[in-house]
Amino acid sequence: MKPTNAIKPVRQIKKVPVKRWTLKDIIDDTRIVQAVAVARTAPLSEVRRIIEKAKIKKGLTPEETAVLLFQDHRPKIMKEILKTAKEIKEAVYGQRQVFFAPLYINNRCLNNCLYCAYRRDNTLLHRRSLSEAEIIKQVELLESLGHKRLLVVAGEVPGRFPEVVNAMKIIYRTRKSQGEIRRVNVNIAPPTVGQFRQLKKVGIGTYQCFQETYHLPTYGHMHPSGPKADYAWRLSVMDRAYRAKVEDVSLGILLGLYDYHYDVVAMVMHADYLDRRYNIGPHAVSVPRLKVAKGTPLCDDKTLNSNQYILNDTQFKLVVAVIRLALPYTGLIMSTRESAAMRLELMNAGVSQISAGSHVDVGGYSTGAKKNNDGQFEVEDTRPLDEVLRNVIESGNIPSFCTACYRCGRTGEKIMDLLKPGTIQQFCFPNALLTFQEYLEDYASAETRKLGIPFLVKQLQKLPTKVRAKTLGKLDRIRRGERDLFF
Ligand code: SAM
Ligand code: SF4
Repeated sequence: MKPTNAIKPVRQIKKVPVKRWTLKDIIDDTRIVQAVAVARTAPLSEVRRIIEKAKIKKGLTPEETAVLLFQDHRPKIMKEILKTAKEIKEAVYGQRQVFFAPLYINNRCLNNCLYCAYRRDNTLLHRRSLSEAEIIKQVELLESLGHKRLLVVAGEVPGRFPEVVNAMKIIYRTRKSQGEIRRVNVNIAPPTVGQFRQLKKVGIGTYQCFQETYHLPTYGHMHPSGPKADYAWRLSVMDRAYRAKVEDVSLGILLGLYDYHYDVVAMVMHADYLDRRYNIGPHAVSVPRLKVAKGTPLCDDKTLNSNQYILNDTQFKLVVAVIRLALPYTGLIMSTRESAAMRLELMNAGVSQISAGSHVDVGGYSTGAKKNNDGQFEVEDTRPLDEVLRNVIESGNIPSFCTACYRCGRTGEKIMDLLKPGTIQQFCFPNALLTFQEYLEDYASAETRKLGIPFLVKQLQKLPTKVRAKTLGKLDRIRRGERDLFF
């Protein structure tokens, strides 16, 4: 018989296994290859099911994304995907297009990327970094055009990281009479956690880094030497950003390096990983296409078009629209690498942020500076900001220079909580109008003002009554000289 005072055996506490994240959680090559292989032959009924699913704005799986990427040969389905992309973009972000401009602070680089004119072995390039006085000059020029958001860009020389931090400080304190830069985003080589903390301290907006290609063997081939040859260090950069509480991050792929089906599916997988692990998906994504870049083995004007992975325009449009369906709450950036006509079309197929009047050489904004050949690649849309903006209005989109969320702390998880139920529009729409009014007051040409004023009045009618009243009050204050008003 058992003694009554026997000590009860300690109940085994079931250990909840702590998930150990690995690089395979970010990118699962086998799953991508499988998804792309199966997608090629997906039946029409499956394509239609996926488009219907996308309409509820919960995003798509990598497998579903792959299926839609193979629809470029079906004009009717393509049209439906583009239309759905426009609807989703407008439901989440409204009709606004946010403007920014890149600022290249140096063109020094230890890497040898086969496609980039800044590559170490390119001897055709004159290497330099902007001095403090030159940064001020460039920023003043950008401010005098009306820009409020800049993207700082640089080559990779680890010892030169302080140049980036310093440039950000200079940008934020440079003011040209009526204007100032209110948000500085950064596209530089993958920093350490400690370096991210420094960027955070000086007010980084979004950290942007393109994986270029997620396909490991191609990545190795394209990046033969220098720190960028380390695929895993680049792939894990957003994890380091989040660890340093830099929570607005932006992914990208360089289209034309490898099979775009693979790379788009992989980027969607990366975005999904960030969302699952941190509950914060990427703030934005970019899908630049390769452009001519002098002094490069892959992209000089002779070699670029012999590349088997170059996308035609139809495939490119489909890529943009499918990404909007797959990642409904992620900003989609379209740079001046694309032509004016293409950018216009894509604004109505999911794009939500555009650059304008960009120069991709160091010191390129200086008026009077002779057009030098030191650009990172060739820009297609060379129109000035004012002209692009007019074009945006003519297409029925609303130009925005808003930087409110970032400065009110509506970033990371908080912004996702506003994006998902569509609440963000309470802020975005009126803020777009307020910043547009500032632009009309301070920078617009006579032609743009003539178009812009009635356009703004028309847009105001779309606001709910209470918000309209508040917006009208703020617009009046702007007309009387106040600046930087937002919700
Ligand atoms: N050096 C940093 C890096 O590589 O991460 C900063 C970014 S680099 C100056 C900006 C981006 O330009 C690259 O990530 C790449 O995707 C893109 N790029 C480079 N060469 C290009 C080309 N020939 N055509 C289009 N985009 C290009
Ligand atoms: Fe350097 Fe970046 Fe150009 Fe590669 S893409 S050569 S890392 S600047």
